[in-house]
Amino acid sequence: MSINEWHNETLGQKVVEALKKNNFDAIYLANKEEAIDHVLKFISPGMKVGIGGSITLNELELPKKAQEKGAQVLNHNLPDLTPEEKMEIRRQQLLSDVFLCSANGITLDGYLVNIDATGNRTGAMTFGPKKVIIVAGINKICKDAHSALERIQMKTAPKNNKRLNTPNPCTTTGICMDCKGKTRICNIYTIIKRKPVATDISIVLIGQPLGF
Ligand code: SF4
Repeated sequence: MSINEWHNETLGQKVVEALKKNNFDAIYLANKEEAIDHVLKFISPGMKVGIGGSITLNELELPKKAQEKGAQVLNHNLPDLTPEEKMEIRRQQLLSDVFLCSANGITLDGYLVNIDATGNRTGAMTFGPKKVIIVAGINKICKDAHSALERIQMKTAPKNNKRLNTPNPCTTTGICMDCKGKTRICNIYTIIKRKPVATDISIVLIGQPLGF
């Protein structure tokens, strides 16, 4: 085992234990392949599978693999959808059998930290779907909620703005400028400290960097 693998596993297992203490189901898996196999075990033909916008899910090709398994995939980020169709898919995601997404930050004490533009992802993470599976790379681990928000403002949100080609100032500066315009994508800030009462959440932490 390399030093990097040792460090990822040591930190990953520590976070998994913290997540379990907060009543989440959680597992650490060393690589993408194991994680894909694990997630697909929760998906059966005919299931409605909601996709929260996520580079991590795309890197793992989970939307495509869920479709290949026979699921009805609800993905509002597919090309050529009208704004009305996107909105309807976001609404349907709230009633999915399985909702797949990532987290912007996972803390050492087992909290999930997220910033969202529309709120469909953060909404579905806490109530609606029968099951939520959060898939995250080792790069999402942060010391605490404060450092998770700092990471999002320094890295995640500017990169997402660049990806979405917004006119927001972080696409020039590379860091958050706390913009106030209508195109701002950082609108909803959530910290999920413990498993929501009526939502079954599994967290799959992967010992490789994924997403932003
Ligand atoms: S608040 Fe505005 S400037 Fe800051 S990261 Fe979000 S979109 Fe960019």
